[in-house]
Amino acid sequence: MNRLDLLLRPLAPLVRPLYGGAGLVLMFHRLIPEGERPRLPTLETTPARLDEIIAWFERRNYLFYSPADLRRFLRGETRPERPFVLFTFDDGYRDNLTLAYPVFQRRGVPFTIHVAVGLPDRTAVLWWYLLEDLLAQGEPITLEINGQVRRFETDSPAAAAQTRAALRPLLKYASPPEFARLVEVLFRARGLDPLAPTDALALTWDEIRRLDADPLVTIGAHATNHRVLSRLDEAEARAEIAGAKRILEERLGRPVTHFAYPYGSRYEAGAREARLAAEYGFETALTTRYGNIFPAHAAAPLALPRYDMGHFPDPRYLDLIASGALAMRINRLRRVMTL
Ligand SMILES: [Zn+2]
Repeated sequence: MNRLDLLLRPLAPLVRPLYGGAGLVLMFHRLIPEGERPRLPTLETTPARLDEIIAWFERRNYLFYSPADLRRFLRGETRPERPFVLFTFDDGYRDNLTLAYPVFQRRGVPFTIHVAVGLPDRTAVLWWYLLEDLLAQGEPITLEINGQVRRFETDSPAAAAQTRAALRPLLKYASPPEFARLVEVLFRARGLDPLAPTDALALTWDEIRRLDADPLVTIGAHATNHRVLSRLDEAEARAEIAGAKRILEERLGRPVTHFAYPYGSRYEAGAREARLAAEYGFETALTTRYGNIFPAHAAAPLALPRYDMGHFPDPRYLDLIASGALAMRINRLRRVMTL
């Protein structure tokens, strides 16, 4: 915990009436078994840690909301007496079923999984895990970038960290054809099956349907190929959003009106993305901008704030997050961020 947040922490109870709002949304990605070493620590936590977080909110008498409950709140149909919290998981990892689902079942707490439909369709590449497989090979990597051949080392943890930091933005922000090229030269050419992490880690449609059959679980959309939507041209962005809705509805046989933007910062999901999500019939959409939920969000249901818990492994952050104190600091005192 940084010093500023340590100083802020005793102020959380004072801040709560102003910045705590009506509730908040938490974001997770994967659970890994206790004792297993995380490969991507900001994406992975353990069942025990998840259970502690749920218990923390239980002790404080929070209401556990689903996206449908949240929608009713935003429409003004309910005015809860107690604050609410939503648990959400992005991408659609199999451990959401095998490790997270039992925790939520045991506590009777609803949760939401935002599925990037290219993962169960086995067309989307989990490049962030593929990159870890590449780094684990420990071989030097040469790559042509803008006509220049660059060499990246991976033979020590420090070199691998540097290479990871250099390659991640190239993959994340690549145009679709450039991404396809990078997948070929970085991964397939080195003997890595680009879809191997997808097969190993992502839910199948059968598993998603099993989860969807339980009223505790909401399946929401998370685009198609998990690209940075703001970097796509309008036709591509439309295809990513419309395709996700159509495919999920076909596979689940019911309307899907809840969305979470891939990545989801203000630079990755902005006004255009919210307009498209609304146009295709999504009623609520989650970003990854920090903030608590206020009645005023009724005016911006497609730009709802959320806390990426991967960045707050220290349990002392829960006070700062739930009270709104962290968002107050980060958003420079603004309570409701608009696009
Ligand atoms: Zn995601």
